[in-house]
Amino acid sequence: MSDFVTRFAPSPSGLLHKGHAYSALYAFAAAQKAGGCFILRIEDIDTTRCRAPFERAIIEDLHWLGLRWEEPVRRQSDHFDDYKCALKKLENLGVLYRCFLTRREVLSEIVRAPHGVGEVYQGPDTPMSQNEEAKWLARGEAYAWRLSLRAARDVLGPRWAQLQFIEDGTGPNGEHGKIHAQPQRLGDVVLARKDIGTSYHLAVTHDDALQGITHIIRGQDLFESTHIHVLIQALLDMPTPTYRHHRLLLDETGKRLAKRDFASTLQDFRQSGQSAVALQESLRSL
Ligand code: GLU
Repeated sequence: MSDFVTRFAPSPSGLLHKGHAYSALYAFAAAQKAGGCFILRIEDIDTTRCRAPFERAIIEDLHWLGLRWEEPVRRQSDHFDDYKCALKKLENLGVLYRCFLTRREVLSEIVRAPHGVGEVYQGPDTPMSQNEEAKWLARGEAYAWRLSLRAARDVLGPRWAQLQFIEDGTGPNGEHGKIHAQPQRLGDVVLARKDIGTSYHLAVTHDDALQGITHIIRGQDLFESTHIHVLIQALLDMPTPTYRHHRLLLDETGKRLAKRDFASTLQDFRQSGQSAVALQESLRSL
């Protein structure tokens, strides 16, 4: 296994735009420079939003950009059993609980007991009793599995205070170097959604470990998630890779490029007759 393994892990829920090209080229160049491996992983656990034609377009765009990767490409939707197994391990550790709240109820809980920034759910004041839970289950109520930070802290004991990662790039607030992981910044996150039986946090952590990723190179929008990924790694006895978060590309108005805004896609570039080299040059000047 190489000393340097990195990956680009797009979700085929739309076409790639310049921001994705920047990220993919950045990771590819880092792997080349280190004489390491570059892996492409298709993160399509959300089967309601991901589509095969987008996956085909992603592969075509990346080839057009001149990227090459190790085969076979891992497609997450082919491995739901793996994520189920990882979830089971966490359940056996006693760090998961069933959350029967609807999205609206979770939001009103967050408003009632606000912590940190954004949508951070810190879990129920008192866990649901087994009797109560049995009643909800008997009624066939839907639930999501959440990671209990309280229970995780108990399981890890003194290791909790030592959770950390190396940021080799820069976080959105200039974070760099050894970072103390603070899972509480994200609260009791969902590790298995009601509809898809896993979540981004679980699948990504599982696959990074399985594929021996040594360097995670990705946009700063995912920096905060690292606090939870490091905790999952500790609970599942997985190594913590080095993280290198990079800046996000902005449009002319200073807003982040996003699929939903129809940010100019790589397909548009290709079809308008521009070369991949021209695109790479335009990225360098941004
Ligand atoms: N699949 C994620 C996305 O498309 C990226 C995951 C990661 O790099 O950790 O935003």
